Amino acid sequence: MSETFTALVLEDVDGKPKADFRELSRHDLPDHDVLVEVAYSSLNYKDGLAVSGKGRIARRLPMVAGIDLAGTVVESRSPAWTPGDRVVVNGWGLSETEWGGFSRFQRLRPEWLTRLPQGFSLQEAMAIGTAGYTAALCVDALEDWGVIQPGGGEVLVTGAAGGVGSTAVSLLSSKGYVVVASTGRAETHDYLRGLGAASFIDRAELASEVRPLQKERWTGAVDSVGSKTLANVLAQTVYGGAVAACGLAGGSDLPGSVFPHILRSVALIGVDSVYAPAARRDKAWATLSKHLDRSKLAAMSEVHPMRDVPELANRILAGEIRGRVVVEVG
Ligand code: NDP
Repeated sequence: MSETFTALVLEDVDGKPKADFRELSRHDLPDHDVLVEVAYSSLNYKDGLAVSGKGRIARRLPMVAGIDLAGTVVESRSPAWTPGDRVVVNGWGLSETEWGGFSRFQRLRPEWLTRLPQGFSLQEAMAIGTAGYTAALCVDALEDWGVIQPGGGEVLVTGAAGGVGSTAVSLLSSKGYVVVASTGRAETHDYLRGLGAASFIDRAELASEVRPLQKERWTGAVDSVGSKTLANVLAQTVYGGAVAACGLAGGSDLPGSVFPHILRSVALIGVDSVYAPAARRDKAWATLSKHLDRSKLAAMSEVHPMRDVPELANRILAGEIRGRVVVEVG
């Protein structure tokens, strides 16, 4: 295989990472044990930061961007994988310290690979992608905490029309929870209702000045926004409730107080997808496999060729992307 293939590579230009398309050959790839032909990757918020250059995601350059991928094993020096295996990779430092998914071929460590969950196509796996798998980690975390009940109190999803949010709304509603969607885009209400949102709260309401303890409303919440939004959500969570926080679309600060935690036993559960252990990943993919409605998955995702990624990177940071973007790499 001496042919070249296209990859989206971050390179050092005047001390800053700049993304551009490059022709690579397999000899340029890292010396890891499993060679995967990538069919699809996806666009996540972190990809937006990396490709636009607005966030310092890559910790070494040159770096192939793309934090996730789905494809087929072509060669393997590991007994764990054989050619023809269909696999998914989320996180593990892809696009940060390890070359990522915006490349027709990639060499990867065997322990980073997850077998494509049964019933999903490679395209569907990336319609879920890292954002959707993170939403599943959040839902699992709330259920493991043991406070949310199908048909019970309201469960809030912030950043609802985004990638994490859309998947969380869909999963929670399929599981029978009463889902309230927080969005800043009123035009997405029909879309979110279609995914299973029962009612809405304006993003601005949750981003207003924080009071330490407010009227108790949310039994649980999935938050991908952070900052004042997360602080207000914690202050509105019921006694013994829990919030799974995974994102910072609204900011990385947390301007709240300890009162929800020490007076109402509210739990703030941090969720990281990048280095989540295999057992938690498997559970999240099993949750998606069992509970994510495929027709809703189709409604929340669109497919774009890799050449669109630089433009889409700016759009996701501007909060203009609805649901998920699948990136066709192959
Ligand atoms: P998206 O851009 O798809 O969605 C983010 C959503 O947040 C937007 O659609 C918008 O929702 C809302 N939003 C955007 N800007 C603001 C703002 N200034 N204030 C309040 N709300 C805002 O991103 P993803 O869903 O892919 O990712 C969401 C967050 O989760 C990111 O911060 C990302 O880095 C993080 N993340 C973390 C992971 C982890 O491992 N911890 C893994 C995956 C994602 P709406 O229009 O509905 O208001």
